[in-house]
Amino acid sequence: MKAKPIMSKLKPYQPGRTMEQVKQKYGLEKVVKLASNENPFGCSPQVKNSLVREYDNLTLYPDGYATELRNKVASHLGVAPEMLIFGNGSDEIVQILSRAILEKGTNTVMASPTFSQYKHNALIEGAEIKEVPAIDGSHDLEGMLHAINDQTRIVWLCSPNNPTGKYIAKNQMEDFLMRCPKNVIVVVDEAYYEYVTANDYPELVPELSKHPNLVLLRTFSKAYGLASLRVGYGIASQEIIQLIEPAREPFNTSRFAQQAATAAMDDQEFIKKTVIKNKEGRSKLIQFCEELNLSYYPSEANFLTIHLPCSGDEMFEYLMKNGYIVRSGEALGVPNSIRVTIGTEEDLDSISKLIEKKVNEIRKMEKNS
Ligand SMILES: *Cc1c(COP(=O)(O)O)cnc(C)c1O
Repeated sequence: MKAKPIMSKLKPYQPGRTMEQVKQKYGLEKVVKLASNENPFGCSPQVKNSLVREYDNLTLYPDGYATELRNKVASHLGVAPEMLIFGNGSDEIVQILSRAILEKGTNTVMASPTFSQYKHNALIEGAEIKEVPAIDGSHDLEGMLHAINDQTRIVWLCSPNNPTGKYIAKNQMEDFLMRCPKNVIVVVDEAYYEYVTANDYPELVPELSKHPNLVLLRTFSKAYGLASLRVGYGIASQEIIQLIEPAREPFNTSRFAQQAATAAMDDQEFIKKTVIKNKEGRSKLIQFCEELNLSYYPSEANFLTIHLPCSGDEMFEYLMKNGYIVRSGEALGVPNSIRVTIGTEEDLDSISKLIEKKVNEIRKMEKNS
């Protein structure tokens, strides 16, 4: 049997161990997952009611056009409904873009490290990958512009970048969009948009009219707290949306997902509270790093990537045995670090104490050897 040659070289996404598995393996009562940047404060309480109403419609296909959600998001953003595309998570929008636009003989430009799915999907489509090393966790926009050539179809910008949490400032973004060739699609993945509190983070929706090659990605999985339901979306010129729509599965977002996202969007108070609590937690974790003399990437997202005097894998194993699941930096292209989701105050206090204990042990051993 034959598949695309690349398939034998790719690995399926490696999900972390589930909380149940970790509990069993280490005999723990409680396990806290700070590994996937989910919202530790849950989601809007209005979501539950919207789901209950949908139980009567289990036999019916969803609205493939997601009309109600579409109109809600369009009016929230102030864009035409035709400028949106919904996906089974924004992961699926990455897949749809890749499937519609990339092929053998084309290339695509992205930072390294960045979100893994841009590369993964582009490889499946047979495109050449041009990775431009990030500079201290920030996109090297100058280097990315230089990497673009006649075969380039998509440039991926992730802001704030996963896994570093660093964002692209307004003036740099404007400069990039002005200089990038108009026939190259610029995807700005704004999965952590809601969390950003920096003043010079650009509002890109108004820029869409000036840049018909710009695509923005947003998701309900992070600040909105609906990761389980899988719903994200792209915002772009009608021209791009029309170009990629045929690559979308007809019923790619479920009724539950559409209803929940519509209800969640109505509760902006919940988002405001989430953002405030996240900022407090982030500041606290940063202060902890400063006190312990650990360097970190200054993050505008709901996670912090912390550099360590040991491998990320070692710290990951140690924290897991103690009931905390994080992401090892080795798996994300940032060796000797861990990426920690900003959790509740209580969880951040406990994980800080664990990290402190481990770091002190390592430093003591280094001193004695
Ligand atoms: C989490 C994440 C996504 C994917 O979110 P979905 O759950 O698929 O909507 C996309 N991009 C980045 C950078 C992320 O961190």
